[in-house]
Amino acid sequence: MIPDHPQRDYRDLNVMVMGLGSFGGGLGVVRFLNDRGARITITDTRPTEKLTESLAELQGIDNLQFKLGGHDEADFRSADLIVVNPAIRPDNPYLQLAREAGVPLTSEMNLFWQWNPAPVVAVTGSNGKSTTTAMIHTILQQSGRRAWLGGNIGISLLPLVDQIQADDIVVLELSSFQLTDLDRLQVSPAVSVITNFAPNHLDWHDSLDHYRWAKQTMLRWQQTTDIAVLNGDDTDVRKWRCLGRRLLFGLTDHGTDGVFSDQNGDAIVRTDGEQQLLPLKHWLKLPGRHNLANALAATCATLECGANIQNIQRGVEQYEPLPHRLQWIADVHGRSFYNDSLATTPESAIVALEAFERPVILLAGGYDKRVDLSEMAAVISRRAKAVALLGQTAGTIRELIDRNPALTCLTSPEFDSFRQAFDWAVAQSDPGDVVLLSPGCASYDWFRNFADRGEQFVHFVNGLKLKRPPT
Ligand code: ADP
Repeated sequence: MIPDHPQRDYRDLNVMVMGLGSFGGGLGVVRFLNDRGARITITDTRPTEKLTESLAELQGIDNLQFKLGGHDEADFRSADLIVVNPAIRPDNPYLQLAREAGVPLTSEMNLFWQWNPAPVVAVTGSNGKSTTTAMIHTILQQSGRRAWLGGNIGISLLPLVDQIQADDIVVLELSSFQLTDLDRLQVSPAVSVITNFAPNHLDWHDSLDHYRWAKQTMLRWQQTTDIAVLNGDDTDVRKWRCLGRRLLFGLTDHGTDGVFSDQNGDAIVRTDGEQQLLPLKHWLKLPGRHNLANALAATCATLECGANIQNIQRGVEQYEPLPHRLQWIADVHGRSFYNDSLATTPESAIVALEAFERPVILLAGGYDKRVDLSEMAAVISRRAKAVALLGQTAGTIRELIDRNPALTCLTSPEFDSFRQAFDWAVAQSDPGDVVLLSPGCASYDWFRNFADRGEQFVHFVNGLKLKRPPT
């Protein structure tokens, strides 16, 4: 139902934005449509008080209509176009109504794709998307070409699309939700990077096959001149078929063209059988083997986009960790505090635990996305000294850990609040320990989102500095 051609003029069209959201996508759409003269109605199931930050950003834009705290069926039948937030499932009953009424549906990313003139290098995967995307962007900025960063990373390029030129390069993070909708345009990026694949978002996708299908939109519509950068260590992803040039990256050498780590963490760069070594691990400031894997993927992709070795060295050296991703916050009373609130999958909590040699007091658990937490629980019991359990999945994780006979990890009691969980975690810690928020689950049960969770953690850590050391 998406128009085949982008609308050139939105004047006098009634456009509805469904789902304002908190990550910039909805705001980007509103700015874009407002610049083009559309009559805009914003509707969101969340009430005004839950959208205060996003609404504040809209100040100064006149003539907006709002239907907050719920939707109105009539709007869905009478709109000329509906721009749907990617988190809304396609089988949403209001969208069914719109389809029956013949109203075209689109999304922020689809609109961007239809207007953007520059080649796109995009990253998807279950984990490591934002880190790899931002690292690719930092490296490409070194190469002298104008590089734009956007997508699921929380930046909407849509209102800026008129400034993007054909010889620029656009670096996007794409989520499985965005890719589901993008498939309807039958497009794939010129350079597609797949970091890895593991069950995730099964509450949205219904099946693992549908989630994989969504991710494979990255490759499905590629041409022979396009490039696929696939994780060779991932037994699922390395089997994905593609039409374009196929490169692998991995923490072990797969012997093909691509970029692989050797035993010292040096990168083997192999092109048409020729190879050279780069001291990549030495350049990289971020902890953990997973971040080395992200840097291998970024190296592989940027070489294909024309970056040279010096650009890669400078980019990787300059790359600062993004907030909420295994981010060191402070050392207080001999304990090191790390905020990894964006670890919303079990695999990301596992890699965070594995990144530390020192004893770890973990804060884990959260909203139940119906994914299997047993492997995460096994790694927690082996690696963590104690775990403060949070949210809906607390009981499940405790049960899984307690089932493990080789238990060395202390599990917390039930908590009513994050504050209680934090205080308990600190009380279990000794000087020299790491206190790590790496929940392995989404945040929607106790928090507004992952950022809220991470910010509360940082706030508690900062509060500790004023207190006496725990006894
Ligand atoms: P995404 O955008 O896919 O959520 P991020 O780069 O934002 O990924 O990182 C989210 C979390 O996943 C971080 O907390 C980090 O510790 C973990 N992570 C990052 N890269 C990887 C990876 N390659 N494999 C597994 N976990 C990862």
